[in-house]
Amino acid sequence: MFETIIGLEVHVQLNTKTKLFCSCPTSFNHRQNTNTCPTCLALPGALPVLNEEVLHKSIQFGTAIEATINQVSYFDRKSYFYPDSPSAYQITQLYTPVVEHGKLRIDLEDGSHKIVRINRAHIEADAGKSIHDGEISKVDLNRAGTPLLEIVSEPDMRNAEEAVQYLKKLHSIVRYIDISDANMQEGSFRVDVNVSIRPKGDEKLYTRVEIKNINSFRFIQKAIEVEVSRQIEAWEDGTYDEEIIQETRLYDANRNETRSMRGKEEAADYRYFPEPDLKKAVITNEMLKTYSQIPELPDQKAKRFVEEFGINEYNASVITSTKETAKFFEDMMEEGISAKNAVTWLTVELPARFSGGMDITTSPVDAKKLATLVKRIEDKTISGKAAKEVLDYIMQNDEDIDTVIEKLGLKQVSDTGAIEAMVDEILSKNQDKVEEYKNGKEKLFGFFVGQVMKASKGSANPQAVNEILKQKLS
Ligand code: ZN
Ligand code: MN
Repeated sequence: MFETIIGLEVHVQLNTKTKLFCSCPTSFNHRQNTNTCPTCLALPGALPVLNEEVLHKSIQFGTAIEATINQVSYFDRKSYFYPDSPSAYQITQLYTPVVEHGKLRIDLEDGSHKIVRINRAHIEADAGKSIHDGEISKVDLNRAGTPLLEIVSEPDMRNAEEAVQYLKKLHSIVRYIDISDANMQEGSFRVDVNVSIRPKGDEKLYTRVEIKNINSFRFIQKAIEVEVSRQIEAWEDGTYDEEIIQETRLYDANRNETRSMRGKEEAADYRYFPEPDLKKAVITNEMLKTYSQIPELPDQKAKRFVEEFGINEYNASVITSTKETAKFFEDMMEEGISAKNAVTWLTVELPARFSGGMDITTSPVDAKKLATLVKRIEDKTISGKAAKEVLDYIMQNDEDIDTVIEKLGLKQVSDTGAIEAMVDEILSKNQDKVEEYKNGKEKLFGFFVGQVMKASKGSANPQAVNEILKQKLS
């Protein structure tokens, strides 16, 4: 039996207005090489100046993961040559990261929780982008010098599910505290996975393989699973020592396999040394005080939802997994509906109608509308079944709920007079069955209910029908 050891490194692109060491804008999708200056182009003589906003965001993150925030930290040079890095080094923090020793609580499918330790989060500058265009490669330096927070976990995860849950929680937190848009497709939340295996019970760590730049949670899950199988197979075949080497691999989603990209460098290969062009980064007590005020985090929100609205822990964690869903739920609750119904319509009925990449942020039905729909079930204007029809309709048409109910003729008849008339008619048409019922064939009650509902074309309030039938038949 083998055990899997997983550690994760995540590069989060901070959503500061300007770059890490110059005043160029950080915006995405601008014309190539327009957001550049002598500093981020690494022209001789241009000096970096630290953007304080980056320290603010680092403090917010450190606070969110209950970490130590180092009020004095330093920058180091990591030397390597890449066409998209004009300085031929990266400014990072090797020896003293701004944030150290944090933790993250993850929620597992079986309802249990686990604490994953975070070793550190350090500030570093991003490189530019290489664009490969047939025979030619081009370099776009708009991204060069964009601030990153590299968040490094301890190797505390034991399977792909734990790794994905860790990443989802981390993703959710950086969005809650608004330090990054964390868009995985656009590369503002880049995940590197370190995977190794060992025989269960063994304390030693074996060779770890790094899988780089996987851009969706689903692919991360698959990449880990397929890499773990490769390592176990090699162990069982007796080829582990030759085949499993410390290296960087790429995940190929089309073939569902990992492939060697390059040998993993050791720290010494990077010739790290203290960055001579920058002073130490200092966080004053004042800054620490101001920026450790952060919004309510997903775990706190979930706990509050359980206490305030009486929903269960599982539903609370689903609803708070993104701040947008949590806000949607709270907006629904503003309308005074039951929490249980809000949860069902928000987490089951609405998403079931999403298509083509739609999500809660782009849903054509907003919180107020969905809550109004639920309210119409609760005040017995329509049945739950009719409400689904209304929802189908308003997903396509931007119309008022009550107008749609009217238009589709879904209004439930609760007027007892009208129902009584229908009941009388059904009973007089079925004298023989009424006799049978009175002689003890109680199963026929369902038949009468069905007939009345049918006569009303489904619009009669079933509760009222039941009551009136009981009266008349007794
Ligand atoms: Zn610049
Ligand atoms: Mn890095």
